[in-house]
Formats: sequence, structure tokens, C-alpha cells
Amino acid sequence: MARYAYVNGRYVDHREARVHIEDRGYQLADGVYEVVGVRDGRLIDETLHIDRLDRSLRELRISWPVSRAALGFIIRELMRRNRLRDGLIYMQVTRGVARRDHAFPTLPVRPALVLTTKNTKRADADPGPGIAVKSHPDIRWGRCDIKTVALLPNVLAKQAARENGAYEAWLIDADGCVTEGASTNAWIVTADGELVTRQTDKGILAGITRQTLKSLCNVLQLKLVERPFSLGEAKLAQEAFITSATSFVTPVVKIDGETVNDGRVGPVARRLREEYVRFAAAGEPVT
Ligand code: PMP
Repeated sequence: MARYAYVNGRYVDHREARVHIEDRGYQLADGVYEVVGVRDGRLIDETLHIDRLDRSLRELRISWPVSRAALGFIIRELMRRNRLRDGLIYMQVTRGVARRDHAFPTLPVRPALVLTTKNTKRADADPGPGIAVKSHPDIRWGRCDIKTVALLPNVLAKQAARENGAYEAWLIDADGCVTEGASTNAWIVTADGELVTRQTDKGILAGITRQTLKSLCNVLQLKLVERPFSLGEAKLAQEAFITSATSFVTPVVKIDGETVNDGRVGPVARRLREEYVRFAAAGEPVT
């Protein structure tokens, strides 16, 4: 079966999909993106993801390439063509094609829109054995709240983690605190059973999975505190886990080679994953 990509108004064979060499996304990382999870043919938290895309675009003063309604249609058409049941949708908007100059183009340019899909194994409630994370200095810029395609520090951190047998990198700020993962948000459960994740500001990306899990914690009456936590505190935690559109809720059982608690998946992460999968299957917002 042919796999399609959407590129600037056309559904094209994925192998033939091209953008111009002077696209500002390619030359200057002048663009933003979103990743939306799909489970059983249903988009997970579509509205929140598109709202975040809107925010990222506004922060960078890139205009919408198509209307919001049209984007919804393109997403569904690409899912239909690629028979996407379980996996993700990747969408990217760059400022467009212009003669290379750091400043915004003075002539009007059309923002470029690209969408692709990826099939993955259907995520289930079983969290598996958990993952290892490796700490890495957070060397990113001052606007990590914008979901830009400028991901080189994240790429280097993730690669360092992989070379050390870890799945994810946990980024450490100047105070020794964990900001977030290279492509996930970071959480711990303290000895007193308190859930902790870092507050959202310009220092991290406000994850949509994080936001939904916050609502789920509220429904489940779990105590959640949004504050910084240090790498040392994480190593002494009862449990740790990561969240993202692609990893859902995934337990962390090892940090820098040291086991978290007894190195087994804990009850809070297990429960939250089950609840999140139930939410994803229902495809309805949590209130
Ligand atoms: N932080 C970073 C740096 C990310 O790249 C991601 C993944 N987009 C997340 C957190 C998690 O966000 P979400 O739950 O919206 O996937």
C-alpha cells in the first residue's frame, strides 16, 4: 500500500515528498510542529494539540497555512489514505520559502505545511518493565514552551542516553533540577506519595499528555504538586515516570544506572497508565 504525506496542498507518495532547499524550516529551524496520538482510529486530545499549535504559531508570528477546519480535514484524509488506526500524526508548519536571511522575509511568503503519519503498535494498559533514563545538562534556549523544530539539544541528549543504554534523557538545569525529558515530561512520586512534576513556564513544553494526566489525577483525587524536583530527589523517589503523546505514561525504573525504589513498576504509574489508556480509548475530554 502506498503511504502518503501531505505537502503544501498535495497528498504525495511519502518517498517522493519534498520541500524546497530554501524552506526556512530546513535552513533556520524557523518552524513549529505537533504530534497527535491515534488509538483505534481516534485522535487523542486533538483540540488541545491544535490549540498548542496555534499558540506556537502566534509566539513566532507565523500565520496559519490553512484554516483550522481545513487542517482537521487534511488530518482525517491522510489518516484515511494511510489507513492509520494506531500511531501518530506529525504536522509541521514553517515560515515558508524565502531567500536566506535571518530576519523574517519582507515579501509575503506562504507558510509551509507538511503532515506525515506513523503506524505503531497499539498502546495498551500494560506498562511493560519500565525504562531507564540518563541525566544530561539542559543546554536549550529560553523559550522551551514553544514547540519548535529546533531540537538539536534534545537530539544530543537523547543520543547520549541511547549510547548509555537508556531510553530517555532527563534534562538538568543549573540548580540540579530535572526540567523534562528530551521529548517527554518528567514526574516522580515522593516517599509521602505526592505526585510531583515541574511547573510549566518558559523552561519546559506544556505537554498535552501532562495536562490530561493532571485532570485525571484530579478525578482520582491524587495529590499533585507542580514544582521543581532535583535529580537527587528523583533517585530517592518511590516511583518515576514520563508522559508524552507517543509514550503515554511510561514508568522509569532506573536513573543514571540506579534503580528507582526496587526497580519495579510502581502502583501509581501503573494506575495512571491504565486510566490514560481508558481515556484515549474513549476519545473524550476529561473534566
Ligand atoms: N517535552 C518535550 C520537550 C517534548 O518534545 C514533548 C513531546 N512533544 C513533551 C514534553 C510531551 O508533550 P506531549 O504530551 O504533548 O506529547
